[in-house]
Amino acid sequence: MTLNVTYAWLIPLLSAIATAALAILVNRVGPRTELRRVFTFLAGMLVLWNLNFFVLYAVSNHDLALHLTQWARVGGLFAPPAVLHLVVALRPNRSSRWRTALLIDYGFACVLLVLNGLGLLVADVRPFAWGYSSVGTSFYNLLTISVFGNFAATVALLLYDYRTGTEAGLRLQLKFWILGALIALPLALTNLLPAYGISVYPLGSLGVAVFAGIVAYAIVRHRLMDIDLVLTKSVAYGAVSFLLIAPAFGLALWLQRESFGRIHSDFSLAILLMLIAVGVLFPALRLRAESSIERSLFREKHEYRAALAAFTRSIVRILDRDKLLSELTNTLTNLLHLDRLALLLDDGERTYLVRHATGIPAAIGEFGSTHELILTLRRRDDIALRGELEASSDATERAAAETFRKNGWEVAMPLAVSDRLIGFIALGRKRNLEAFYAEDLQLLSTLAAEASIALENARLYEELKRSRDIIERTGRLSALGTLAAGIAHEIRNPLVSIQTFFQLAPQRRHDPEFFTSFLSLTAGEVDRIGDLITELLSFARSPSHRVEDVDINDLIERTTLLLAPEARKSRVKLARVLATDLPVIRADGDQLKQVVINLVLNAIQATPASGTVTVLTRRHRHQGNPLCQIEVRDTGVGIPPKMIEDIFNPFFTTKDKGTGLGLSIAHQIATEHGGFITVTSEMDRGSSFYVNLPLTSSIDSHTTNDEPEAALPLRYGRMAKL
Ligand code: ADP
Repeated sequence: MTLNVTYAWLIPLLSAIATAALAILVNRVGPRTELRRVFTFLAGMLVLWNLNFFVLYAVSNHDLALHLTQWARVGGLFAPPAVLHLVVALRPNRSSRWRTALLIDYGFACVLLVLNGLGLLVADVRPFAWGYSSVGTSFYNLLTISVFGNFAATVALLLYDYRTGTEAGLRLQLKFWILGALIALPLALTNLLPAYGISVYPLGSLGVAVFAGIVAYAIVRHRLMDIDLVLTKSVAYGAVSFLLIAPAFGLALWLQRESFGRIHSDFSLAILLMLIAVGVLFPALRLRAESSIERSLFREKHEYRAALAAFTRSIVRILDRDKLLSELTNTLTNLLHLDRLALLLDDGERTYLVRHATGIPAAIGEFGSTHELILTLRRRDDIALRGELEASSDATERAAAETFRKNGWEVAMPLAVSDRLIGFIALGRKRNLEAFYAEDLQLLSTLAAEASIALENARLYEELKRSRDIIERTGRLSALGTLAAGIAHEIRNPLVSIQTFFQLAPQRRHDPEFFTSFLSLTAGEVDRIGDLITELLSFARSPSHRVEDVDINDLIERTTLLLAPEARKSRVKLARVLATDLPVIRADGDQLKQVVINLVLNAIQATPASGTVTVLTRRHRHQGNPLCQIEVRDTGVGIPPKMIEDIFNPFFTTKDKGTGLGLSIAHQIATEHGGFITVTSEMDRGSSFYVNLPLTSSIDSHTTNDEPEAALPLRYGRMAKL
């Protein structure tokens, strides 16, 4: 077998290799879905189809070429239905209609396969401009029909799916496929022309490689580029490559003619391919080489810049202001090896004070809003360098440079929020006396922007926490009001007896029995009132937010003492069923009292006279974890199923004078203890609220937890069972 002198076979060969590589790639990345399987089949057919043309152009032996192409032609027979199949496989819901259509389509390709096997499709191969070309029989028209029919159906289906599709990701994928089809299909049709005696170099191989490339990209990548951007980029890339390669290629042609007196076509083609390869590979290789050289030669610099960039990304997640300030100062000082650093913030009165500092302290630690340094930073709104300010023609900037010099500062990073300078970070010298490079300054500029946002976030978070405290206090005061009304009612009765005693005492002065019976009657009452008032005052004072060992049963006993008057007032029985095996848990006792009070008050209010509210405690397990459970059970009106999702929302109430805060606060407190509240309810039968607290409480870490989830009671760890 001898190869023909021209390189017409090169393009189908390269296309076959590229398509096979794409099939391997699609199969190696991600799971083997039907789409990927169909793509692999199509790629296989396209490889065969390309090999068919490779054989036609590369093999000079007539019989061998005829024999080999008969095999390779199989690709050309099955590729058209496979293209349509691929588009059908992309559809999210495949109708049986399309399955039948595909079956017929593949059946038709099988008929062509039989005809091909019998030698009834192509009669011969004849010498042609670039090698051989197939001589089709009249059956060959069936192949042409299959190609045209499938291509038209493919384009129509792609356009239809794109127009009717509603899923954005799928539509973008379809956009890529349409682009691929519009480039590839017309080019693929040129491969039919030689069989009809039209002498045009078939460009189908190029077309199918482009199609396979675009489709493989759209299958493998989930983050697809904006197609307009792809087109713009490709056009720009093509234009620039052409502008650079065309003159170089022209020069190569001219040099050939000058040196050898003629232009050799194969040699010229090789040069052109080389130029294209250099043009394509150079930018990618340059970037790789740059970064790996930087990484290996200037390791330390590379690492600290990577660390600084990572710190910049993580900084907005810190919500605690003090932590944020200390991390900012320490990380910058350590990463840049600074001899000093000062972080100054506006105190709210337009004076900038040092809030955090490392290394040598600043000589001047306070700046008014009209200070030259502040004016300069506000005007520049970007990092200021001492050297730059010293060389400035502006007198204010030069005065600012003087402040830099006095404090030993080299760089100042302004921190600004919506055009307001909230502070700045002043950096001293690097200990190794290296300068601040442009790359450093760029990173620091991004860090300053992120730090400003983080500081603002921390401020907002503080405010949020304050409003949360106000909400909690409002809820507490509301419960207190209800409790106080009941207790006042209770105190009145013994007071009446004491009053009666004082009225009768002068007359019964000599009646010891009167005194004894009265004393025994009132002593208990007075003690009870004393206890009640103590409990009430303890509940009324601001919660200490102290985590301590809490005996839940004892807490319930003391709290129900406070609630008993309200129950009596409503003529509801208040009972307790307490487990004897409950361990002491780590918790905020004041807060847990509030939970019990809120739940029991709700239960009393929901229960009609002569009903019962029971507080029960027990050990419990949830997902294998041991819990301490407090149940508040009532025989009240129950909660309508569609309302159960809402009752924990802040301000949701069905009561005339309700605040709608009781349950949302209870939920929040339970969550902060690492626990959760669940509800079961049945209309007209009653409800049960279960407070589940972990035995090994995480409240110690929860109280210092600054994650935003804990900020607002918007997510509930509850389940509503009905
Ligand atoms: P408030 O008591 O101020 O209305 P809550 O947050 O404590 O606020 O309760 C919200 C709503 O949940 C109540 O208005 C009530 O409709 C319902 N609810 C709470 N507990 C019960 C209960 N035990 N039985 C019936 N409904 C209840």
